[in-house]
Amino acid sequence: MRRRLLSVLPLVALSIAGCSSAGPSRSSSPPPAVPPSASVASSSSAVATQTPSKSVSPTRSTAARRPTTSAAGRTSAARRTVAPPVSYSGTTVVLNPGHNGGNASHTAEISRLVPAGYGDYKACDTTGTETNAGYSEHAFNWDVAKRVRALLQAHGVHVVMTRPDDTGVGPCVDERAAIGNRAGVAAVISIHADGAPSSGHGFHVNQDSRRPDGASAATAQRSLDLGRALHDALQQSSGLVPSTYIGSNGYYYRSDLAGLNLATRPATFLELGNMRNSGDAARQSSAAGRERIASAVAAGILAFLGR
Ligand code: ZN
Repeated sequence: MRRRLLSVLPLVALSIAGCSSAGPSRSSSPPPAVPPSASVASSSSAVATQTPSKSVSPTRSTAARRPTTSAAGRTSAARRTVAPPVSYSGTTVVLNPGHNGGNASHTAEISRLVPAGYGDYKACDTTGTETNAGYSEHAFNWDVAKRVRALLQAHGVHVVMTRPDDTGVGPCVDERAAIGNRAGVAAVISIHADGAPSSGHGFHVNQDSRRPDGASAATAQRSLDLGRALHDALQQSSGLVPSTYIGSNGYYYRSDLAGLNLATRPATFLELGNMRNSGDAARQSSAAGRERIASAVAAGILAFLGR
């Protein structure tokens, strides 16, 4: 039984750990972002996370005690080079980077009211926040989304963005939701950062506190599952902690987000740190920090797709 389990696990685990080393056993020491080309190198640790008795922190001494595991990992890696284990070709994910670079200079255009679900109306879009040094949220969201897109594409996922660049206006929140609601979309992830008082820090996952307008109960449940997968991945390897200032343990349930209220496909809404907090802002303002955050987001999406 055990041999059979181990023979199957590498195929399953690689798809989850491939673009990020967000395995449970590594939570105490999050590694740096792993580029797609290095995905096979994480195979042995991915297997280790599936065997609780061996799930200790991946220190040098641990590796030394398990030479056969790393040898097996190399063998598996060589095999996978020939035949990728899991293909997500045919799977579509929509990334929705919040706001846009042209919004601030088109206030009338983005202020018009649009349907926001349940008969409510909200402004078409908003300008977003920025760090105290002036790094804008729309630029951060766009950069992170591009990084997540690249990581997902390396796994064969077809990625659709709700805006083509970071210089336009909008689109309005209802248009963004409509893009996510297209048939066949497996998951919709809205990417934002918060602008809260500087004393608080960390990420939070916005979940809809009621069933989205027009969504089935099953889809609403999948949305919660998607949010949980993202939460776990962010907690394990993004470098950000669950929010210290809003919600509970990195979750915030609300009913006023058009993107969630209008979603008829599995959807979640991320706030990837507080741009007004110096520690979070330092991570958000560096390319390495954004790559690490993006790797965690991609790992969460892949974990969700693999379930
Ligand atoms: Zn935002």
